[in-house]
Amino acid sequence: MNGQQCKDCSLFDTRRVAARGMLEVALGFFLLFPYRCQHCCGRFLRFSPREIFSRDRVNRRELDRHEVTFDAIVANPARGRIPVRVADLSPEGFHCRSDETLSIGEIFDLSLYLLPDEAPIHVLGAVVRENMNNSYGLSFKQIGDAERHIVRRYISVVHS
Ligand SMILES: [Zn+2]
Repeated sequence: MNGQQCKDCSLFDTRRVAARGMLEVALGFFLLFPYRCQHCCGRFLRFSPREIFSRDRVNRRELDRHEVTFDAIVANPARGRIPVRVADLSPEGFHCRSDETLSIGEIFDLSLYLLPDEAPIHVLGAVVRENMNNSYGLSFKQIGDAERHIVRRYISVVHS
């Protein structure tokens, strides 16, 4: 925590992140730095003179990933249903392992069986971005507020 308040959700669960592009780099000279909210994923710039004294605050990863292990199904019309084992989860995506080969750029819907007494949640449109030794990184193309809330809630249950 670095004390910056999120402009969207008002929580202080924010993180200084790396500047994107020349404009944000240039704004750094005027002490405007980018932050990312770990709760709602909002990204914003904030005037913060004290950041010039902290050289090692910037995290390469903008959002925390939470280690988890559970089974899920990814599916699309071309491939059908493919079981995967999810290894980490954030509101922006997840890593998983699978016995089947997922190709970079393939788009799947995801069914997560998170809480035993609740119906699975479905997240539409996760794109395969990485393939490292059959460990796949998928990022959500767009995630609804309701699904993001459920993912958040699941992470908080697992880590409580
Ligand atoms: Zn926020």
